[in-house]
Amino acid sequence: MKQSLFFIPTLKDAPKDAEVRSHKLMSRSGLIKQVAAGIYSYLPLGYRVIKKIENIVREELDKIGSSELLLPALQPRDLWEESGRWDKYGPELMRLKDRKQRDFCLGPTHEEIITQVVRDYLNSYKKLPLSLYQIQTKFRDEMRPRFGLMRGREFIMKDAYTFTETKEDLDRMYNEFSDAYKEIFRRCGLETRIVSSDVGQIGGDEADEFMVMSEVGEDTITYCTSCSYAANQEHSGLNAGDKCLECGGEIEIAKGIEVGNIFKLGTKYSESMNAKIINKEGKQVPVIMGCYGIGISRTLMASVEQHSNEMGIVWPEEIAPFKVHIIPVNTKDELQVEVATKLYLDMREIGVEVLLDDRAERAGVKFKDADLIGIPIRVIIGKDAKDGKVEFSNRLEGTKDLVDLSKVLERI
Ligand code: ATP
Ligand code: MG
Repeated sequence: MKQSLFFIPTLKDAPKDAEVRSHKLMSRSGLIKQVAAGIYSYLPLGYRVIKKIENIVREELDKIGSSELLLPALQPRDLWEESGRWDKYGPELMRLKDRKQRDFCLGPTHEEIITQVVRDYLNSYKKLPLSLYQIQTKFRDEMRPRFGLMRGREFIMKDAYTFTETKEDLDRMYNEFSDAYKEIFRRCGLETRIVSSDVGQIGGDEADEFMVMSEVGEDTITYCTSCSYAANQEHSGLNAGDKCLECGGEIEIAKGIEVGNIFKLGTKYSESMNAKIINKEGKQVPVIMGCYGIGISRTLMASVEQHSNEMGIVWPEEIAPFKVHIIPVNTKDELQVEVATKLYLDMREIGVEVLLDDRAERAGVKFKDADLIGIPIRVIIGKDAKDGKVEFSNRLEGTKDLVDLSKVLERI
């Protein structure tokens, strides 16, 4: 992509209400733009990263046999009456009426819809287990939308649902999702800690949350300094200095960003919404469900929070919007432009995602923007181009050296 054609509206200053580093940087580097409280546009650079995260999720869920579908955001009240959540959900639910005054809501989550999708089809244990997921926009009228994409009122979520005959099958799928999540977050450059959590609004049996440890996190995690015990403070009620419930060791507390969670739902929805199967013993029983969420847009935010410095973002390799940034220092120098353009075309030819800064801007402006948007490999074409050399820097490894033009593709 040529930068002169791409839309990257970088800013000198962050918006006044941006409190945390990731929010400031995402605004300044032209990844997102606020429309209203908790509502954002994803600009081309930010949307490239969103798509990368989504594809990592798709690859890992495909490996565990989950199929992707897409459910509607607009949901009729009667389904929410069936589950009993029309009244229970409270003001977070975005409600609206159609022209005939019928009630609808904008989906904050999709247990009702997915149950409606499968219940007519699922009549026998022979059709189980079943695992389905979607990547979609969710709506929640959060009391305190803040920190950019961290807590939005409209945000992108991956939600998956499993249907099984037995608790053992649910346990197995739950563990498969847990392993897939570890891999997804690792690939997004995030180190996560699994903490056991309160089931809260959704209801059900067991649940775990995937937390990125961070000062800006809204959750408080209690963890043992001697064993692997960790729980959300909402759930454990423990405090720093308390004794671990499992080994007696000392409890510490830390802040975390919840990027995903997994729930053993049980039969809450299948019972209230009548999703039943004939089991192996020939008895009619409600199907057992699990649900599994990942905040895609929050994962992007958490990744920027973890991988940035005062000057800009330093993208983890797999989710970087481009792999290579080619910067000719002086666009009035024909040789520099020629070398840069040739490198750019050669890289495209072998499938490297590359951004060419072909703008007629001062070098200082280009470098500032390049620091902000943080593409991992930077190739600078300057005065040494006449001797067949360019500067090659790798932001992830912190290296920078002069490289022979003929060696650049090899290095990449
Ligand atoms: P939280 O405790 O942060 O409100 P939640 O328990 O309501 O999260 P779920 O309903 O389980 O979250 O949603 C699944 C995932 O979606 C969460 O793990 C989180 O990553 C993401 N998520 C939830 N609410 C928001 C939001 N308002 N903005 C962005 N991402 C969100
Ligand atoms: Mg919530």
